Amino acid sequence: MPFSQFGLAPFFSKSLSHFNYAEPTPIQSAAIPAILKGQDVLGIAKTGSGKTAAFVLPILQQLEVAQISQHRDPTVLVLVPTRELADQVTQVFREFLPSLTSGVSCLAVYGGVSINTQMQALRRVDVLVATPGRLLDLIEKNAVRLANIQTLVLDEADKMLNLGFQEEVDQLLRLLPVKRQNLLFSATLSEDVSAMQRLILKDPLVLQIDEVGESPQQIHQEGYFVTEERKGVLLRYLIKHEQLQQVLVFVSSHKKADNVTAKLVKNKINACAIHSKMGQNVRRDALKKFKDGRVTVLVSTDLLARGIDIDCLSYVINYELPRSPKDYIHRIGRTGRAGASGEAISLITPAEEHHFGVIQKKMGQRVAMVQSDGLDLRGY
Ligand code: AMP
Repeated sequence: MPFSQFGLAPFFSKSLSHFNYAEPTPIQSAAIPAILKGQDVLGIAKTGSGKTAAFVLPILQQLEVAQISQHRDPTVLVLVPTRELADQVTQVFREFLPSLTSGVSCLAVYGGVSINTQMQALRRVDVLVATPGRLLDLIEKNAVRLANIQTLVLDEADKMLNLGFQEEVDQLLRLLPVKRQNLLFSATLSEDVSAMQRLILKDPLVLQIDEVGESPQQIHQEGYFVTEERKGVLLRYLIKHEQLQQVLVFVSSHKKADNVTAKLVKNKINACAIHSKMGQNVRRDALKKFKDGRVTVLVSTDLLARGIDIDCLSYVINYELPRSPKDYIHRIGRTGRAGASGEAISLITPAEEHHFGVIQKKMGQRVAMVQSDGLDLRGY
């Protein structure tokens, strides 16, 4: 069914076809009409469901129709837990800005980069995408006011609360006008998220798109039994022998990310690390190179397990397992997105076997296991 059936204006059609959005995803079909009507929405949906465009498109249409891009202060606030997600959401807004005539502008603000540049850029912004801490700093410096916010979006609310942003979010909520539209998106409906939705949302449309606990069917999962000593060489074997392109490798600590990356580079594999101990510009650069295909392997901590959208990412490798089964599902969900197929490979040592069993049980799915003893890893 075309987007126009859901009340989306024809002025988006060029951009929609340019970005190959032939039909709305389920969350878009349900959320777009409700948001256009001004209703509050609770969307339980993972990244990959099309949830960003589900709020970006109706918000832009509301701004265009009302021609309200004249305020000095922003009218839309999108709160996100990470800098990467802030960039990604802003990019989706910017993809659709050329469809509009009203000169709507969108800006991302987050920590780890110069606050002065952001203060200057904030002179006239309609849609502000922000991480909570930096936004509070900017408010304190009188660089922005939230008095004109008409729509609040809380994206990845569960991660926001897991990262301990509750207090900052509460502080920000107190600065918003009481009368506003609220849209809350979360991959999971935890108790914390339920409490937050009761606090924020008024008579919301509740959309549960993808049960957490299910793994996307289009992701092929495989595990390799391997000893700790042979993990590194098995990783290089898989990448080189199978000629894998665009591989996201997950490890459990920033030290491990640096070590694994160094070993890959030493063995002539084009790899970069990404983790929270790196400066924001270095992180952004690593992610961009990976997305552009200039880097074959990105070695990441769980920093990138959620939220981040990488077009056509075919391979996720768990060099080490995450602690929680939910994180496993989030990690493998980086591949097989928007209907594409993907492959998730986990390297399992004897010490990790029991935990991998628990993950599979929680997921309700068995993962085919391969013995790596027989593989000739010499020369890798
Ligand atoms: P999200 O869940 O917002 O992170 O979106 C995941 C991916 O799906 C992004 O790469 C979007 O560009 C893509 N996408 C969103 N909506 C559609 C659609 N209606 N048709 C095709 N792709 C889409």
